[in-house]
This record gives sequence, structure tokens and C-alpha cells, in this order.
Amino acid sequence: MPAGSLPEEAGQHELEERLSRATSPEEIARAKEHLAETTGLAYERCSGCGSISTLPAFFRATRKGALCPRCQERSWPRQHARLLVTLGILLFLLLPAMAWTAQFETSYSAGWVPVLPELRWSLFLVLNPLLVLVLASLLVIPHELSHAAATWSGGGRILEIRIFEGPVRWQTRVRGTNVALGSYPLTGHCIPVFRNRDRIRERTLLMVAAGPLFNIVFLLALLPFYDGSQLASSGAWPELLLVANALLLISALIPYRASLGGRQGLSDGLQFLSLLSGKYPESDLHLSYLTTEAAHLLRERHYQQALETCEAGLAYFPAHSLLENSRAVALLEMGHHRQALDIFEELLARAQCVDEPEQPGVTGLARDHIEALLLNNAAYASLISDSAPQALQRARDCAQRAWRMTPWLREIQGTWGAVLIETGDVEEGLTHVAEAARGADTARAKAANLALSAIGHYRLGKKDEAARLLKEARHLDPTGQMVTRAQGELALLA
Ligand SMILES: [Zn+2]
Ligand SMILES: [Zn+2]
Repeated sequence: MPAGSLPEEAGQHELEERLSRATSPEEIARAKEHLAETTGLAYERCSGCGSISTLPAFFRATRKGALCPRCQERSWPRQHARLLVTLGILLFLLLPAMAWTAQFETSYSAGWVPVLPELRWSLFLVLNPLLVLVLASLLVIPHELSHAAATWSGGGRILEIRIFEGPVRWQTRVRGTNVALGSYPLTGHCIPVFRNRDRIRERTLLMVAAGPLFNIVFLLALLPFYDGSQLASSGAWPELLLVANALLLISALIPYRASLGGRQGLSDGLQFLSLLSGKYPESDLHLSYLTTEAAHLLRERHYQQALETCEAGLAYFPAHSLLENSRAVALLEMGHHRQALDIFEELLARAQCVDEPEQPGVTGLARDHIEALLLNNAAYASLISDSAPQALQRARDCAQRAWRMTPWLREIQGTWGAVLIETGDVEEGLTHVAEAARGADTARAKAANLALSAIGHYRLGKKDEAARLLKEARHLDPTGQMVTRAQGELALLA
């Protein structure tokens, strides 16, 4: 960092500290105002975790104040529980009403004098609404399998079939497809990819339509067995299945955007409308499949395959940031640190260039998100490829800027912690890597943060704790780069 910029940096840091510590709304507003005057940047402070960011657009205003994406996530289980209770109550009122109306119709159509039907209290008034919710949750399985079958018949691949969103309870791999069971009933998704651009819109439309189509066909098949007057009685299986199926069909067809369990998803209805309205050109669809596939392969640690996917994609979209970034991550994981760092630096220079023409898929919020990721990746690559003071300072600058933008992303918190440990702020760094390890969503990321934690503890002279952390990291990911590095450092000084 040039020496001349130090006093201003210190001023900014002090003001940021003031914003982090602020408690009253007045204090927060004043600190934000000062920061805007000094840095020219708009800041936001999360009322949940207290983290601050220069990207206020990612926050959501609530009654208790602005919430960062990570804190918004914390309210998902509660929101989902509320949705289930609401549905349960609605069904508790709806089923007896439907049964009552059906009985009324039957007695009337039989030509008798209309007598108001009676509705006696029974256990099934409570049990049947619950059974409908259970059946609708089970029907998520054939619904998602229908999406998958349509993808396969269209020549595509399914990366993941997810039954229920939210934290994963169980998962396995079936012929290259991740099959996972989550925690929030009544939800699910499929991640399809089509490599070939030929008729990509039609194939996507067919894939999206297949889920609701299953529900429609099943509904029609159940209709002959349906007797509404049974809805509040025992053994009303065809009736309850029909209602459950209708519930699932309606929830799939309503156009909405859901953010549940860490992922932004569009309902089948909204995807269908967007595809029909021509909102996504074929090239955008193709790009999103390529980037999704590359990201998935990186998560699964198939680095060579990820590299090939990116290179195939770059033939269609030369120099596209998202594909180039994934390519560099694959190279970094394969040990080509210098080459990866050069790509990240070049992409970063382009991202920060004002006249850079807009790329498909890199607009608005996504652009800021990608810039933060590039800063993070450049910092990480710089950290593991070069231990010269200049390279370390560059890593620290990049990691700090990424941390200022999106502190809620675990990988960014982990890198910031790593850089702090490496540049001497060990204790502060340790709090960040510990938190990043707790929230990591892959074994490799968790192991890397545990290994960093081991290095930090070792440097503080806490050898036993360092050895314990390293053992845990090694157990999770014996070949990870950070694990190897920690092994080296701990063995060297032992
Ligand atoms: Zn927060
Ligand atoms: Zn669906």
C-alpha cells in the first residue's frame, strides 16, 4: 500500500469501527453519514450480527432494522414452520367444509327433501389435514423425478435432485447425480444442465413443465375414486391424495421467487412464464447451464472436468468472467497457483474498469457479487502462491475489500481470517476462521478453515489445540492444500 494513503485508511477503519459498535439508530445513521462523506461509499450495518458492508442493496429492511443475507437465512426455519401451520389450519377448515358441501349435494341430488347434513366430531377432522401435508410432501418425490426424467429424455444431465430444501439430512450419489434429503417438507428442486445449445429453450420448457404435468395426470387418475363426503372420515385415501396433489400443483404453478435454505429459486410457474415471455435469450440459458455445471464440478472436486466444462463454455462465450473465474479456481485447486492468480488479477482489472462492456449474467447485484468473489480469489491465490511481503500486502488489501463488500459469505470470511493470521493479526484472524469453519458447506472448506485455525493456534504457542484442530482437518480432507500447509508448519516447528 502506498504510504500516502495510510492516514485516510486509518480514518476509514476508525469510522468503520464506530459503525460496527453503534447501538442506537441515531448513532448508526451518523456513522453511515460520516463514512459516506469520507469514502464516497454507502454503508449498511446488519441489525442481527452487526457486520457492515458497502453493498446495502443485499440487505433486507425489517421491523428490527436491516438484515444481511446470512441473518435473513436464520429466519427461514421459522418462516417455513409458519407456512406449514397456516396450511394446516386452512386444511382443517377446508376439508370439513368440502365434506359438508358434498354430503349436502348427495342428499339433494337423490331427490330427497333437503336436510342440512350433520358433521360429527371425529379424530379425522384433525388427522386428515396432517395426512394431506404428509402426502403432499411425499408427492414431491415423483414431481422432482418427472423434472429429471424430462431432462434425461432431452439429452441433459441432472446434477442434483433435492427432496426438501434447507439443511441436508442425508445424501448419496446415483450415477453422477447428487440425491439429497433436506429439512423443510413440501419443497424440493432439481438442477438440470444441457450442454448443447440446440433447441435449448424447448428442452428447458419441457423440463419445467414435466413436474406440474405429473401432478395433473395423477389428479385426473384419482378423480373417478373421489368422494368428497369422505374427506372428514377414516380411510379417505384417494380423497386425501387428490387434495395433497392439488396443493402441490397450485404451489408449483403460482409464479414466485423463493429464497429457502440458502438458495434462490423460481417456482415452476415463474420459470415457465419467464421462458415463454422470452426474458431469457437462448444464449443466457446456455451460459447459466455452463456456469452451474462448472460450479457443481468444483464443489464435487472434479477439477479436471470443471476445467473442461469452462473451456467448452469459453468457446461460446470468449473471456466471460464467470467461466474464467471457475477455470482459475480449478487451476488453483490443481496446484497451478501462479496461472490462477494471473487470471484473477486480469478479471479484477476488467471488473473495475468503467468502460468494460456488460457481459450476459453479470449485471446489477451479480456484478458486485462477482467483484467480491474475484477479490477473495485473488487474495487466496496470492496468499498460497507467494510469501513475499509485497504479495502478502496485496492479499490483505484484496481480502479486506472483499470483506467490506460481502462479509456474510463464509469463503470471504475464511480468506480474511487467513490473511489476518498470515500478516500477524492472529487472534482476530482466528475468530474469523473459526466462524467460517462452523458455517462451511463442504468438507474441503471446513478442513481448510480448521487447518488455518491450527496454524494460528500454533503461532500463539497453543500446540495441543493446534494438533487437535489439524487432526480434525486431516480427517475431513487429507489432501487439501491448507491441510498440507498446516502439516508442514506444525511438523517444521515441532
Ligand atoms: Zn447479519
Ligand atoms: Zn417443479
